[in-house]
Amino acid sequence: MAKLPNSVDEVVYFTRRTIGEGKVVAWAYKQKCPKCGMAMMGKPKDSKTGKVQIRAKEYRCPSCGYSVEKKAYEESLTADIQYTCPSCKFSGEASIPYKRKKIEGVDTLRMQCQKCRANIDITKKMKEKGKKDDGKEDEA
Ligand SMILES: [Zn+2]
Ligand SMILES: [Zn+2]
Repeated sequence: MAKLPNSVDEVVYFTRRTIGEGKVVAWAYKQKCPKCGMAMMGKPKDSKTGKVQIRAKEYRCPSCGYSVEKKAYEESLTADIQYTCPSCKFSGEASIPYKRKKIEGVDTLRMQCQKCRANIDITKKMKEKGKKDDGKEDEA
């Protein structure tokens, strides 16, 4: 059974949604550096302030400095999903590549219900005005 993250620091993505009469919780864990395996890849930190550069277009290993372009890194991750299907009410879990497709112009993480094969779409949330931007794609 997929484990819910204990902290948002463990994930690059976490969302909780209601979709029609169903619901979805989805997250993608950070992964260790593929080069040295010593540390979790993360957004680089500003050398002066020590703050994470949330707008950075790359992930960097704090141990060896290896860096990967943001999209390439994220698409190598796995999204774990717990869901209740909006079509058939089946509750299940799935792991899919953390890759978004453009569906009707919106970046969407699409999965299929294991029982009825209906598409379950987790669309990218638009940023709410005035909401503090913490660099995550979106959050519950
Ligand atoms: Zn490394
Ligand atoms: Zn279903």
